[in-house]
Amino acid sequence: MPDSAPGSTNGPANGAANARKPAAPGRRKAARHRGEGQWAAGHFTPLNPNEQVKKDDDGLNVRTRIETIYAHRGFSSIDGQDLRGRMRWWGLYTQRRPGIDGGRTAILEPEELDDEYFMLRVRIDGGRLTTAQLRVIGEISQEFARGTADITDRQNIQYHWIRIEDMPEIWRRLEGVGLSTTEACGDTPRVVLGSPVAGIAEDEIIDGTPAVDEIHRRVVGNKAYSNLPRKFKTAVSGSPLLDVAHEINDVAFVGVVHPELGPGFDVWVGGGLSTNPRIGVRLGAWVPLDEVADVHEGIVGLFRDYGYRRLRTRARIKFLVADWGAERFREVLEREYLLRRLADGPAPERPVAEWRDHIGVHRQRDGRYYVGFAPRVGRVDGGTLAKIADLAEAHGSSRVRTTVEQKMIVLDVPEDRVEALTEGLAALDLTTRPSTFRRGTMACTGIEFCKLAIVETKARATWLIEEMERRLPDFDEPLTINVNGCPNSCARIQIADIGLKGQLVTDADGNQVEGFQVHLGGSLGLEPGFGRKVRGLKVTATGLADYVERVLVRFTEQREPGERFAR
Ligand code: SF4
Repeated sequence: MPDSAPGSTNGPANGAANARKPAAPGRRKAARHRGEGQWAAGHFTPLNPNEQVKKDDDGLNVRTRIETIYAHRGFSSIDGQDLRGRMRWWGLYTQRRPGIDGGRTAILEPEELDDEYFMLRVRIDGGRLTTAQLRVIGEISQEFARGTADITDRQNIQYHWIRIEDMPEIWRRLEGVGLSTTEACGDTPRVVLGSPVAGIAEDEIIDGTPAVDEIHRRVVGNKAYSNLPRKFKTAVSGSPLLDVAHEINDVAFVGVVHPELGPGFDVWVGGGLSTNPRIGVRLGAWVPLDEVADVHEGIVGLFRDYGYRRLRTRARIKFLVADWGAERFREVLEREYLLRRLADGPAPERPVAEWRDHIGVHRQRDGRYYVGFAPRVGRVDGGTLAKIADLAEAHGSSRVRTTVEQKMIVLDVPEDRVEALTEGLAALDLTTRPSTFRRGTMACTGIEFCKLAIVETKARATWLIEEMERRLPDFDEPLTINVNGCPNSCARIQIADIGLKGQLVTDADGNQVEGFQVHLGGSLGLEPGFGRKVRGLKVTATGLADYVERVLVRFTEQREPGERFAR
């Protein structure tokens, strides 16, 4: 068992001591939810194994054991609670042992699925990287991760094939350029999403960068918030394109202009997908830039204290928001955590652009240009990342960004260098003019590395893109196709035009094969909605391109004038 953690403020008892003391009315109401395991209702005894692991020792403390014990003695020396629990607090998950098919995912014990290698997630708050940081990420990929480096749909970079022995050196290099893996996974405040064009876009309502930085400074690695009921996802964007998928974050701050108070942020809470998807709700509150971190910290504290801890399946903030409603949530936030009222404020305007991904060449407010390009389903490699850094620098830039669509952007390119840069990117197969299919397709990690996966995703989505480009070369409607390896929806099944949920299906010969449940017609935006699960519509993996082609051809033939495929 791990050492106890002297001085730790984490674990239910200590964490509760750390909470702002809830006022009496909130306590009385919360008492009705005693059965949900809320700390604010006095439930300090862990009600499930995950809560027990967190109480036994703060996840952040595992870093010391990795550096002083596990990295020297190897994989077999790792404590079981650390291996499948606390490693996540430092961005590490064991990856799936190769060769185990999706049919055995649900029936094997966790240790039978574990490989002796890890996935490692590097958090990139706001998606902001310097070219020096990108080069280091690429070098680590080449030296320690067999060249792997995937851009995730939360602006992070994920490696695979990481050995525990290499972690001290990997951290030394990442932290040497200001990057970290702290709380990249686990029941913690995860990476803070930010507009990839924050601070440069001509049409920006407000630059949220200072708020992203202040949120990070206050909550990441802070033991007051390192034992949350479950993960906690944050997004901040002052772009009118609503470019951080704010609707599906636990908390989001969206740029708006208050008629009297000016530019600030509209607050959303309670969004999230997975198996019980919910679109976030507005609190109806307007927050100025320099108060975003206060409100964020209040909401994280509220989630820590009132969030449900009995069942993992109900431990996201969306369940609390669904039970309380926006009005009560705001009232408790103001009364018990902020100790003041928030100003009422307006909702965001409807975005004008059909795509939110910043692909292509766009003028910045300082007269230079940013250049967005499209790797296939976020899959790059260490060598390519280093070349992107070289190319950007050779064309006058020292900054890049990642997007929530698994894409990238080079910033600050002088006008006379744009064409050469786009040609250089194209030579790396990183086009700035992708087809609809390449632009709009995302995929999660899938069975290649993920222990929960049932089907293959990245390679299959890449194949699908190439098939659709060949079969329908003229299709240029905005379209999103999201390929997921299981029902967990890491690549957002429910909000895609065509959402694909990996599962085993029965083929024409009666065999169980890899396939997908189809969801059609999901969307984000001001009128977001979840795709309809088409009753009984399941496609085999090998029949996927035929199915997508049929749907799009039928749409093209039957469309009304002006009708778009995407809602
Ligand atoms: Fe793994 Fe499922 Fe998430 Fe894909 S959706 S990364 S298979 S947990």
